[in-house]
Amino acid sequence: MKRIRTFGEPVLRTKCEPVREINEKVSGTVRLLKETLVASKGLGLAAPQIGIKKRVFVARNPETGKILTLINPLLVEKKEPVIDLEGCLSFPEVFFSISRHSKVTVTGLDERGRKFTIEATGLLARCFQHECDHLDGILIIDYATEEEKSFWKETLEKIAHRRKI
Ligand SMILES: [Zn+2]
Repeated sequence: MKRIRTFGEPVLRTKCEPVREINEKVSGTVRLLKETLVASKGLGLAAPQIGIKKRVFVARNPETGKILTLINPLLVEKKEPVIDLEGCLSFPEVFFSISRHSKVTVTGLDERGRKFTIEATGLLARCFQHECDHLDGILIIDYATEEEKSFWKETLEKIAHRRKI
């Protein structure tokens, strides 16, 4: 299991590199992401959250419990915007109200390098959009209103400060 990087750490603001070849290093990243996701009881985890600047994420299907791996994911279709509270393992205990699409289609490679397309709705669709954002250095705080940021100010400062201790 790897330490989850939290808000304030520069790696979370990186635009991640596409994976060019499925090799042992990539398999290692996927394994670490899965282990860390399971240990943290999260729904999704992107490579930059464990300090790896590659376009890889894992997501747990809330209906089946199965963990999906997406390499070089691309959101190809989005429908029906819906606002809901959203958290992030890099922002412990913080929730922002964010508009996402409730139906998405994502393409990408699985851990063996096979191209696939997946349709998702509801929570999994939200998770896919959230994790794709991570690969471009976009975080939930980027969607927050000034009021929300001031509501969570103390917690956010604590999170950003924690890494320095
Ligand atoms: Zn996140």
